[in-house]
Formats: sequence, C-alpha cells, structure tokens
Amino acid sequence: TIDSHDTHDPFTDSERTLPEHVDPVDEITDPEPNPVATRKNSQKLLSEWDIPFEQLEILDLIGTGRFGAVHKGKWHGDVAIKMMDIDTDDEKQLQAFKREVSFFRMTRHDFVVLFMGACMRPPHLAIVTSLCKGQTLYTHIHLRKDRFNINRTIQIATQITQGMGYLHHRGIVHKDLKSKNIFIENGKVVITDFALFSIGRLSKKKARKDSLVIPDGWLCYLAPELMTSLKINTDGNQDMELPFSEKSDVHSFGTIWYELLAGEWPFHKEPVETVIWQVGKGLKQPLNHLQASRDVKEILMMCWSYSPESRPMFQHIKKTILRLPKKKGLHRSPSHPLHLSRSAEP
Ligand code: ADP
Ligand code: MG
Repeated sequence: TIDSHDTHDPFTDSERTLPEHVDPVDEITDPEPNPVATRKNSQKLLSEWDIPFEQLEILDLIGTGRFGAVHKGKWHGDVAIKMMDIDTDDEKQLQAFKREVSFFRMTRHDFVVLFMGACMRPPHLAIVTSLCKGQTLYTHIHLRKDRFNINRTIQIATQITQGMGYLHHRGIVHKDLKSKNIFIENGKVVITDFALFSIGRLSKKKARKDSLVIPDGWLCYLAPELMTSLKINTDGNQDMELPFSEKSDVHSFGTIWYELLAGEWPFHKEPVETVIWQVGKGLKQPLNHLQASRDVKEILMMCWSYSPESRPMFQHIKKTILRLPKKKGLHRSPSHPLHLSRSAEP
C-alpha cells in the first residue's frame, strides 16, 4: 500500500498552498516575543541564513540518521549537509524547522559545531554545518575500544560541559546529547545535532501510530522523566511532547561520563523493556565494577539524580570535574630526571 503522503508531489503542492507574494523564508516568526520593530529586523536576519539548495554541491553520503541522510558537500569549502526528512506539506512543521534554525544562527562556541545556514524552501530542507574531521566519541569508545586516561577523560568531559553550558545559556536544550553527537577533532570536542530532536519526531516516514521507533543506543541517555513519558507514548499518544529540559541534558551527560569511564553503555545487553522499567523506577546502572574513585562516581550519581531539580547545572559539573585529582607525570617515566623536564618548560 502507498502512504497517502507519497501520492502527491510535495513540490507542486507547497507551491500551490503558498500565495505568490509570500516568501516562505521571510514569513518566520521569531522565537522570542520581540517588539514589532525588531521583529522585522530578525526576520531579515533569518533570511540571511537561507542557502539556496542549488548552491550546494552534494558529495558522498556520510551516513543516515534519524532525520535523514547526511552528505559531505561543498559550500564555500567543506561542509556537512543534513537533509531533513520532514513533512513539508505541513505548515506547522515547517515553522518548527525555521524556529530551530533561528536559534542555531546564534551559536558560536569553540566546542559547538559551526552552523553555516539552512535550506529553508520546500521541498529541500537541509542544515549546513562545518564538516567535522576526526571520529565521534562513539567510534572511539565503542568501535575502536579506545580508553582515555583520567587526564584526557577530564579534558574531554570539561570541554563537553563548557559547550553544553554555553548552549543552555543561549536557551538551547540539546535533547540528543550522546557520544555519537560528539566529535573529537584535532583533540578537541565538537558538539553536534543540538535541538534537532523535536523536528525529527515529526518525520513523516517514522510517524506510525502504534509503534515507537527506538534507535540503537539511545535509551540509556534518557532521564527518568522522559522514560515515563515514553511509556505513556507507547500506549498510544505518540504526539505528546517529551519533557526535555536542561536537566535531561545533564542526565545524558552522566551517561557520557559513564561511557568514558567504563568503555560501554550503561544497561548494555539489557532488553529495552527492562531499561525503560528500571530507569523509570529510579534504578541505576550499578557502579561497583567500575574502577574509579568515589569523587568520580559521585559525579555520575549527581547527573543521574532521579529528580531533575537535584541534577546540577553544567557550570557546577565543570567545576567538580576540574577539582578531581589528575595523574601527574603521565608522559614521564619515574626515572626521568626532574631537572630535564623542568628545563623543557618555558
Ligand atoms: P547519528 O548522530 O545518530 O549517528 P546523524 O544523522 O547525526 O545520526 O549522522 C549520520 C552520520 O553522519 C554519522 O556517521 C555522523 O557521524 C555523520 N555526521 C553528522 N554530522 C556530521 C558533521 N557535522 N560532520 C561530519 N560528519 C557528520
Ligand atoms: Mg548526529
């Protein structure tokens, strides 16, 4: 059977439904309720981030995620092009996409992927960012089985808390913080794919009434309050908004901290139903097998607190991580004469 969406051409359809004088890009409402005068200005600003699809040179497919295909491409240099597989027939979804884009343009941080613009005219909706070199933290930990020493772990985690603290300061909840969305580029953290989750949920291909699509390795990042809403959603009401918050991002960070320490996901090998049930009830991945100090484990427990209010802000997590004792002289053998290494320093 053919899905009803596919029986008409979305291109001609969207052309038809929009009056000729309305420019879809200029029609965006700003996320912040601004006075009329500044609103006009911000609409203009958003259209400056509109990239005509024809200007993109689309190269190899990098991979396919929840939202659609990600391609390597060229637009004034190397870029990543994230094709957004959303229902462009629906004006509400289109507005949601543009609303998120209006937030992306305000992000500029050393540890956050560079947003370059977006294709905002149906049927081609795409997000253009800088192309991340290097591997994701997921590839390092789970595929290559790389283990980072405590100093490097502290460095990576600190950079994540800095990038995340910045996004929260900007009013952006990531909603999909996971090791697959963190690149290590020239030794530096790059956080990608923030705030896309709610758009992805609207994808026309994935929206099935009676089932919930749970991507591999996703559940263990979800905070208990999201888990319990998920349960309600599987019972039928899939359109219900999940209660994402800054504090649910903190829970996801806890899982990344665990991955860095343990080299695996929490609850790995446990069936989906068991994880949903356990986390929803407030049960946590046991930490007794983990070879780490009490301070290190306490960070986990803070981030995984059952109640969102008890979880710390990223600024606080950063400070706590930076107070952890570092291993000294990791690059120096014990027999290495101290005066030599001193003389090498400025
Ligand atoms: P996921 O994050 O679940 O892996 P995505 O749709 O985000 O799914 O990514 C699909 C593929 O594209 C992944 O291999 C991901 O590493 C890669 N990718 C995503 N964004 C970028 C980027 N900015 N630069 C380079 N590769 C990227
Ligand atoms: Mg991603």
